[in-house]
Amino acid sequence: MAVNEEVYKEITDELYASKVTLVAVSKTKPAEDIQALYNLGQRDFGENYVQEITEKQPELPADIRWHFIGHLQSNKVKYIAPFVYLIHGVDSEKLLQEINKQAAKNNRVIHCLLQIHIAQEETKFGLDAEELQQLLTSIVSYPEQWSHIHIDGLMGMASFSYDAQKVRGEFQYIHQLFQQHQALSTSNCQLQTLSMGMSGDYKMAVEEGSTMVRIGSLLFGKREYNK
Ligand SMILES: *Cc1c(COP(=O)(O)O)cnc(C)c1O
Repeated sequence: MAVNEEVYKEITDELYASKVTLVAVSKTKPAEDIQALYNLGQRDFGENYVQEITEKQPELPADIRWHFIGHLQSNKVKYIAPFVYLIHGVDSEKLLQEINKQAAKNNRVIHCLLQIHIAQEETKFGLDAEELQQLLTSIVSYPEQWSHIHIDGLMGMASFSYDAQKVRGEFQYIHQLFQQHQALSTSNCQLQTLSMGMSGDYKMAVEEGSTMVRIGSLLFGKREYNK
């Protein structure tokens, strides 16, 4: 088992002080590592791959809050719709429609974050400021069409860069978009959660207004993709 208990305690103490939620990112890690962190009190876990999350979920305690943090394809929403707690990477109206549909089939409301695109990082998914505005307008103007989703906030990933000022600027940009739309308050949309920050940059993300960090390698050690 490769759970770093000391680091976990340090991070949770630190985040508790600033009321930030920790999502432990367990992708590629075995169920026993998740169970080990669960035994220390962790309940929020994040996964990136549909197949992996659907395999692990039934093997682990039912009160785990499963966050889907990867890029989600519309045709796979149905597999996670019965149990997912929060979907972080919503980046299109088409995907949101499918989530709404599958949530209705499961008689539930699925909570979502809209992913913001960082202009400098071409490989990453997400909405730009204008697309965000359009999607939010659609959601709040036609609540009856969007009765099985709830928009909880925004998610963003900063560039993978050693340029700290650049990374900080990106977090500031996402935070600014978050604040811009915080006045929205409808039955299906209220921005309260700002998911940003990973192992390498979470402290800075918290300084720039993050309310939810997604941390993997600091807790579970480096990932091995080709076992
Ligand atoms: C893998 C992943 C993380 C965690 O990354 P670490 O650097 O291991 O903390 C966070 N967010 C997303 C979207 C990820 O894919």
